[in-house]
Amino acid sequence: MKNISLDTKYEIVVVGGGMVGATFAIALIKALGEDCPKILVVEAAETLTQKKYAPSFDARSTALSFGSRKILEETGIWSDLNKIVTPIDKIHISDKGRFGTTLLSSEEQNLDALGYVVENTDLGSILNYQLESALAIDFLSPAKIKEVRPKKNCMNLSIAYKDESYSIEASLVVLADGGRSPICQQLGIPQFQKYYKQHAIIANVSLERPHKNIAFERFTENGPFAMLPLENFRDQNRCAMVCVVDDHETKEIMRMTEEPLLLNLQERFGDRLGKMIHIGERYDFPLTLSIAKEQIRPGLVLLGNVAHTLHPVAGQGMNLALRDIRVLVDCLSQGIKRQINPGDMTLLQEFVDQQFSDHRKVIGFTDNLVELFSSNKVPNVILRKLGLLSLELFPALRKSFAKEAIGLATVEN
Ligand SMILES: Cc1cc2nc3c(=O)[nH]c(=O)nc-3n(C[C@H](O)[C@H](O)[C@H](O)COP(=O)(O)OP(=O)(O)OC[C@H]3O[C@@H](n4cnc5c(N)ncnc54)[C@H](O)[C@@H]3O)c2cc1C
Repeated sequence: MKNISLDTKYEIVVVGGGMVGATFAIALIKALGEDCPKILVVEAAETLTQKKYAPSFDARSTALSFGSRKILEETGIWSDLNKIVTPIDKIHISDKGRFGTTLLSSEEQNLDALGYVVENTDLGSILNYQLESALAIDFLSPAKIKEVRPKKNCMNLSIAYKDESYSIEASLVVLADGGRSPICQQLGIPQFQKYYKQHAIIANVSLERPHKNIAFERFTENGPFAMLPLENFRDQNRCAMVCVVDDHETKEIMRMTEEPLLLNLQERFGDRLGKMIHIGERYDFPLTLSIAKEQIRPGLVLLGNVAHTLHPVAGQGMNLALRDIRVLVDCLSQGIKRQINPGDMTLLQEFVDQQFSDHRKVIGFTDNLVELFSSNKVPNVILRKLGLLSLELFPALRKSFAKEAIGLATVEN
């Protein structure tokens, strides 16, 4: 970590150097080049060089859409990421125990890949490195923002860093501190919350057969089950598993020893990848939909999970946040070049207006998918059977579904 002497005033302060906060800061300095004012990024946790996992960069893997790749190319992050991601050539969608499957392929979409899987720790190492080496960024970690207070024409932030308290001012605070944000509460920004009564259990699994770059999404009576392709490790075929279970099953599954757990998971997923041989450390995440009722205020903008936390069923959380970053960076950089204060509501409102329909579409799509596929009510079973069947029978429908699911529709506009 480079030595930082904190300024008393920054144009932009990013609260949270997780996936979203870090990517935003890197994207903004890339877009503005020499015109970029000094940015302060404050991250509460120790960085990955100091420990194995950090809150945003934990044992999970993230499926990035082809559209997200395009955004990451613009930020300069992709040139490092490219070397370590696993491409998804096909997505296989099925409904356990019922007729109806569909296969989306990169060939049919005329793309190099439908998407890419990256292990969060790998993404974290790249982002941390870029944060630390950028001259226009002061990266403070571990340091915690204790309070954000609006003042006339700026925001005041209290920072706890190395047993000391600091007070600084910012023209714009980018709040990217994740789904459980005390700062949001402190500022009196309410959240719409819907608890799905489900948990996602994640782990890396080694398998008898190679994945052949296919991502599997299987809808079971207990909840969706995804297997994302990963690079081999010590010659073992590997996938990142996301298994959604009901609340009441979570404790039991987390406590199971390896052998009965593998049998349980194999029963849910089936044998498309052969026998499940070994499972790594597992972690569980309670699943909610939460949406901040205010996304902007003068001198304040919410990004990532603090703005919208989604169910991981369609793998859209980070992909949506990347599109937000792209639009926000565009609005801010145009404003900064015209000497407009980055906290000015006209710039921030432009961002909200541009992203409004994307948010509505992705949040609605994800929530409907959870409702449709987590229920055994007869109308829902028929609907999803018809849905998968029509995707299989009508290539044009499959193409437009794939465009939405892989996040291309918005990026091409
Ligand atoms: C099981 C699961 C699977 C998922 N899979 C996918 C997928 O395949 N594709 C996809 O697009 N999305 C996926 N997502 C969603 C994705 O993980 C989130 O969109 C992403 O993590 C949001 O990042 P964030 O930076 O907003 O929040 P976080 O990851 O929560 O990061 C917030 C950061 O802020 C820091 N912080 C908090 N408070 C303070 C403070 N007061 N001061 C300073 N720092 C602070 C924290 O330490 C942390 O580093 C998945 C989510 C889950 C749960």
